[in-house]
Amino acid sequence: MKNIAVLGCTGSIGRQTLDIVRSNPDKYRITGLSCGSRVTELVGLSREFSCKNVGIYDSEKYADLKSLLPNANVFQGDDALTSVIDDADTVVIAVVGMIGLKAVLYALEKGKTVALANKESLVAGGSIVTEQLKRGGKLYPVDSEHSAVWQCLQGENDFSRIILTASGGPFYFTPQSQLCGVTPEQAVKHPNWSMGKKISVDSATMMNKGLEIIEARWLFNTTNIDYVIHPESIVHSMVEFRDGSIKAQAGFPDMRLPIQYALSYPEHADRNFTPLSLPLELRFFPPDENKFPAPKLAKQAIISGGNSAAVLNAANEAAVALFLQRKVSFTDIVQIVEDAISAEPHCELKTADDVFETHNRVYEKIYLKYRGQ
Ligand code: NAD
Ligand code: MG
Repeated sequence: MKNIAVLGCTGSIGRQTLDIVRSNPDKYRITGLSCGSRVTELVGLSREFSCKNVGIYDSEKYADLKSLLPNANVFQGDDALTSVIDDADTVVIAVVGMIGLKAVLYALEKGKTVALANKESLVAGGSIVTEQLKRGGKLYPVDSEHSAVWQCLQGENDFSRIILTASGGPFYFTPQSQLCGVTPEQAVKHPNWSMGKKISVDSATMMNKGLEIIEARWLFNTTNIDYVIHPESIVHSMVEFRDGSIKAQAGFPDMRLPIQYALSYPEHADRNFTPLSLPLELRFFPPDENKFPAPKLAKQAIISGGNSAAVLNAANEAAVALFLQRKVSFTDIVQIVEDAISAEPHCELKTADDVFETHNRVYEKIYLKYRGQ
């Protein structure tokens, strides 16, 4: 029996993780649950899974939560990302945004296995997470592309290149001139995946692929990472080996597959999955980085190193929040990120505090600049 904590349990990945636990009561037990602010949903899930440790980040909701769950250990603020995992073996980190870094570092410090959906933590704090991993804990990817690469690498000692696939999001075939008029409602509708708002906007701007390129750089310790547009989202990514052979991992686009693999690794466990009906047509296109420059910015951030990726991530989080509040346009998002990287002097980030300081400063500067518009 594996003891599992799910951080971000009310979100898209969190709920899909709980679906897997629900269908495998003999394998998994939930010992920790937390979310940002949705008390009612959190209470329902805590009761359903008889969860002992429950956390809410929003401290204003703490008293309500405590009164509704008198027999649980109830946490608030940062403790909802840290102490709530203490009884778990595996921690699914499914919160959105760089705040996930607190959870990742704490879980690794405690020697836990982290099943990581939250990509922003690795983008902003990849070098610090990598250092922490040398001291203990394990890190398994949940993001479908990285799970695909991880699956392709089983039994392999070496590889030459990672090729991530990208659906292209909802606007890949939209004329460039129409992109500035894209509304938040249009941007959060993804053709193949049902996801939270932030990652849906990231997918629409292709910043999601940028973040994933940086994520892959830290997970697989390589800078040899390319990507192709694959609108069907059936091939989840590929790995090329030194003899030119390429392995690809494919399957129906359903996040429960990579989530389950991170929980059941090294097994491919049973599941009622949707089979692919073969044959099917799969298309692969070269990316258009004039129209969607975000992945190019991410590749430059890898080359620059230091604070570049943390600045890129903070600026993107601020710009996406502003876009969802209709303060900036769709095409402003990536422009704001590019401007932020140029404006910020290059420096090294040596500690987690350096990463949080950079993130908060860059985020606030952008947010305050555009908030009043
Ligand atoms: P979501 O918006 O649906 O859910 C986010 C969850 O995080 C919610 O439960 C929310 O309450 C919680 N949360 C937010 N701030 C918190 C805080 N400070 N403390 C505790 N909990 C907090 O997001 P999502 O789509 O599930 O994505 C979660 C993460 O997984 C993101 O980093 C995203 O990039 C990544 N991811 C998502 C998908 C997907 O298909 N949804 C795929 C790959 C990777
Ligand atoms: Mg992905």
